[in-house]
Amino acid sequence: MGTTVEEQLESFMHGVERRNPGEIEFHQAVEEVVATILPYIQDKPIYQEMQILERMAEPDRVITFRVCWEDDKQQIRTQRGYRVQNNNAIGPYKGGLRFHHSVTLSILKFLAFEQTFKNSLTGLPMGGAKGGADFNPKGKSDHEVMRFCQQFMTELFRHIGEDTDVPAGDIGVGAREIGYMFGTYKRLTNKFVGVLTGKGMEYGGSKIRTEATGYGTVYTAANMLAVKGDSIEGKTAIISGSGNVATYAAEKINQLGGKVVTLSDSSGFVYDKDGIDADKLAYVVDLKTVRRGRIKEYADEFGAEFHEGKPWGVNCDIAIPCATQNEIDGDEAKTLIKNGCTCVAEGANMPTIKAGIDVYLDAKILFAPSKMANAGGVAVSGLEMSQNSARISWSEDELQKLLKDTMTGIHESCLEYGDEGDGYVNYLKGANLAGFVKVADAMLAYGVV
Ligand code: NDP
Repeated sequence: MGTTVEEQLESFMHGVERRNPGEIEFHQAVEEVVATILPYIQDKPIYQEMQILERMAEPDRVITFRVCWEDDKQQIRTQRGYRVQNNNAIGPYKGGLRFHHSVTLSILKFLAFEQTFKNSLTGLPMGGAKGGADFNPKGKSDHEVMRFCQQFMTELFRHIGEDTDVPAGDIGVGAREIGYMFGTYKRLTNKFVGVLTGKGMEYGGSKIRTEATGYGTVYTAANMLAVKGDSIEGKTAIISGSGNVATYAAEKINQLGGKVVTLSDSSGFVYDKDGIDADKLAYVVDLKTVRRGRIKEYADEFGAEFHEGKPWGVNCDIAIPCATQNEIDGDEAKTLIKNGCTCVAEGANMPTIKAGIDVYLDAKILFAPSKMANAGGVAVSGLEMSQNSARISWSEDELQKLLKDTMTGIHESCLEYGDEGDGYVNYLKGANLAGFVKVADAMLAYGVV
């Protein structure tokens, strides 16, 4: 390592890039975290001597496998499946499965790395993992999705378990896919255990798991605003995405007295100046999860505007990106701020590229990075695991309170580590440090393994 923090970062990233060539999303996620941790560990040589950061940035295990399935025309299709088990220092591996044509090893390694810190922040005993396949569920029949899920689980089942690795949903993996995969796991192993979360309520699911990520993201925005003596009430929010996270973030904004004016999908965004209220949201949930249509149909149904591209040029107080990674660049972050945005809470994972994050931090707006803002989903997944182990089911009221308390606890930890002492809270630094310390100390306890 060099002498200054900048030299150390350059040398560290050189090693990461050399060992993981071309994996740009993984490099991006590692650099964002390491840049904030290196200054913190300068006077804590034990973390450096024991190579804690180097070990965190090398997944414990990467599994790739072929998934062959037959489509409705009896054509054989071949996809690639993955599970990246990043770190299990503080608990069994835990993290979602993504089915999307864009899935690569780089994207899953970034997500598994981020998940390690996020899960630590929840305070629950969960390590970090992520998986998925380059399978595109769009336009596939239910039977095709079922056959794919069954074939995917036929290999994945040997690498997971209720005390080993507990996958959940992510982009393209919702209740339908979890049901097909759990059915196959159960058949292959002859065990009914909590090996997946996000299950249906009839077979071991937890209340409020579906809502948890979106709700938690908005609680985070509310917690940051509260520090400034402000609230969601009366605020205008723009949201990207129209899937699980986006729709429940919108629902919570409405419940707290704000107004949501945009939602999007990969074809464009709708702008509804009157606000996307509960009835309109019910339409979106049906459109996206039952009819599996395009967001443009919302504009046709309610007389709203439809535009190609992303919603970041729309005036707002709060922005909640909930679609995918790298959806806000430096210029888009500047546009947000120019148009009045003072609070960004990331529902999606790593939706803002580094140039955009630098814009938020320079402007000193409220910025909750994804590992802080969207941890509510995995937190309730952790509670689903507890309920499955104990063979009990908690009430909705209990779980709503636990989710809210968890998000408050995460905000407090990030505030503690991110307070710059000049009235500004750098929540990015706070989230990275608070997530790091617990995992790092557990790794120290194990010695060199
Ligand atoms: P869904 O599949 O339910 O919805 C994804 C939404 O994002 C859809 O509207 C989709 O549009 C849009 N989208 C996906 N890829 C792109 C793209 N490349 N460009 C533009 N729009 C895109 O996924 P989730 O809501 O579950 O996940 C959204 C984000 O939240 C992801 O980053 C995920 O990792 C993160 N997250 C999810 C959690 C969960 O509990 N589900 C937990 C924590 C984080 P279209 O319909 O056109 O594909």
